[in-house]
Amino acid sequence: KVNIFWFRRDLRIEDNIGLYHALHSGLQVIPVFIFDSGILDQLQDKNDRRVDYIHQALQSIHEELKEHDSRLYVYHGTPTEVFEKIAGDFTVDTVFCNRDYEPNAIQRDQQISDLLSQHHIQFKDFKDQVIFEKNDIVKSDGSPYTIFTPYSKKWKERLKKIEPVSVEWKHFAKSEGSSEIISLQAIGFEKTDIVFTKPTLEKTIIDSYGKYRDFPAMDHTTHLGIALRFGTISIRSCVQYAVEHNEIWLNELIWREFFMQILFHFPKVVHQCFKKKYENIVWRNNEKEFKAWCEGKTGYPIVDAGIRQLNETGFMHNRVRMITASFLTKHLLIDWRWGEAYFAAKLLDYDLAANNGNWQWAAGCGCDAAPYFRIFNPYEQAKKFDKDAEYIKKWLPEHYKEEPIIDHATARERALQTYKEALAE
Ligand code: FAD
Repeated sequence: KVNIFWFRRDLRIEDNIGLYHALHSGLQVIPVFIFDSGILDQLQDKNDRRVDYIHQALQSIHEELKEHDSRLYVYHGTPTEVFEKIAGDFTVDTVFCNRDYEPNAIQRDQQISDLLSQHHIQFKDFKDQVIFEKNDIVKSDGSPYTIFTPYSKKWKERLKKIEPVSVEWKHFAKSEGSSEIISLQAIGFEKTDIVFTKPTLEKTIIDSYGKYRDFPAMDHTTHLGIALRFGTISIRSCVQYAVEHNEIWLNELIWREFFMQILFHFPKVVHQCFKKKYENIVWRNNEKEFKAWCEGKTGYPIVDAGIRQLNETGFMHNRVRMITASFLTKHLLIDWRWGEAYFAAKLLDYDLAANNGNWQWAAGCGCDAAPYFRIFNPYEQAKKFDKDAEYIKKWLPEHYKEEPIIDHATARERALQTYKEALAE
């Protein structure tokens, strides 16, 4: 008999809670990953850097395992198909994994757990993706927090010192031969320019994060988003470092968990405004204007620079994400769901909970969002956070001379009016 460890959003061997429990289960462990064909088929771009990133992270895990005379098994198909096959190929006692809180993932795990039980195989999942999950941090009456500050206060009070868990290499199942994992081409994707290296905590960035994080030209944030998304770094190591060195950065990590627990407790936010009244907003949804926004051709330099950074690199600085999202929803009165979907397709660090939470925040309809009448002025934002236009110059081509798609004062008045009418009903 063997046990299986199923990698998902936790693509690392070190300090991996579910894997740790599998390796202490008393049986040899076969590590597996499934390229879910259902998810991959939905991706339009066959040059998606995220798929390449995952593939390289798996390759790295495979190499590490080979050094210990083991290997990683990578499958392509739906999890149901793959587990049917695994149940036929091996005599399995238990499948171990780490919990995922997205609605689709919860549904998938329930299906797999049911399927496995038909084969008399147990399914055990663990908390690894976050420090606090589900109902770990709730109000005294047991209801979830929807405001960040009291949530983060309790989060910090509950936090205990974190120690990484060890890796018992000898418990990985031995594998003969020098087999390779499935290629990127075999799953229908192409090599891209992304290069996976094991993420590390960049102390120089984190220690002075609070001072410089808001200036996009300085690029003074960690870029750990993708690593946290796919679990190539352990959240526990990030939090422990943050606790010891920088509380402002710690707060960002708590925002991540805040939105994850919002999604867990209120899965309807995937499609709906957290604040119901905001469903009354009559979006203009002008397709031409949306196209101009997507192409970085709105005539607002800071907005266009941000979108071009996103289109070229898959990353956009947080300050500029806020400005571009505000511009789309307020200045152009385009439904936040359109912008959210665009970011989802482009961001390397795309995460449903964070993206949805932040878009709803920008549109004013989210939990703990700024009041709707606070409308970012893109010119003032640029003056304050990119005063020498360094960021703008970096991302806009020399011949850039777009006319503003709409004048700021007019757009502002129109947004105020539209929101006011929606909320008055
Ligand atoms: P750092 O600034 O170094 O922060 C460290 C980590 O903290 C991040 O990697 C992220 O995991 C977390 N974090 C930081 N800020 C937030 C936040 N506001 N909400 C939730 N988590 C946060 N973040 C994503 O991870 N995925 C998304 O899809 C995403 N979409 C966004 C959409 C909009 C409209 C806006 C305004 C913000 C979005 N963010 C998203 C939050 C934030 O912009 C990014 O996490 C951050 O810019 C990533 O850069 P970094 O990795 O250098 O993070």
